[in-house]
Amino acid sequence: MFKFSIFKLRKVGNNILDLFFPKFCLGCGEEGKFVCGKCFKKIKQEELCCPVCNKVNFAGRFCKKHKKQARFDGLLFVGRFQGINKKLVHNFKYEGIKELSNLMAKVMAQVLAQNFRAEEKLVLVPVPLFFAKRLSRGFNQSEILAQKIGEILDLPVANLLLRIKATKSQTRFTKQKRLENIKKAFCLSGWGRKENLKNKTIVLVDDVYTTGATLSEAAKILKKKHPKEIWALTFCKD
Ligand SMILES: [Zn+2]
Ligand SMILES: [Zn+2]
Repeated sequence: MFKFSIFKLRKVGNNILDLFFPKFCLGCGEEGKFVCGKCFKKIKQEELCCPVCNKVNFAGRFCKKHKKQARFDGLLFVGRFQGINKKLVHNFKYEGIKELSNLMAKVMAQVLAQNFRAEEKLVLVPVPLFFAKRLSRGFNQSEILAQKIGEILDLPVANLLLRIKATKSQTRFTKQKRLENIKKAFCLSGWGRKENLKNKTIVLVDDVYTTGATLSEAAKILKKKHPKEIWALTFCKD
């Protein structure tokens, strides 16, 4: 009886919130949901490719030419950083609409499930934020995504990394500048030092893949633990 009344109250509360702050589809502007059914269909998986040159290979691994410079095994992503995908990332990360992460995590989980066999021992590792940035934003978008993907696929989520350097925003930097900026930004966390990663495949989770500088640096640190493979999983690729 008690539970029922709380549930009812919440429901009424949500309806009232919707009345004052109605939701509009980020794709077409239709009132009702953040992403309507029609626009949701547009969020589909693009063909996987070499993360550097975008040459399609259906696996997400680096091509022969770019394999040497790679610090991780490959990239899985949902779509390109444009249109509704870009709006989703922006509204989640900068406007703080955490509800959007449910949808993002759902499609990311699908991509992950399609590309790994069930017997593979996967560990989801969110890319950490520097503590001051996390405080000012109030949350780490990668952590929320990793947790939700972990819940959907019943996979462990481990905060194996710490961000020890306040890096400048990467958005306006060239690739070379990004690499310099992110250098020595991570170390293993206490958990990361203790965890045995042999025979396990790490999946680094982030929202967007741009030049891969951040993910490469994170992978470099995790390599010290000799996992079987290291993959990156993002919602978008630039
Ligand atoms: Zn729509
Ligand atoms: Zn390539």
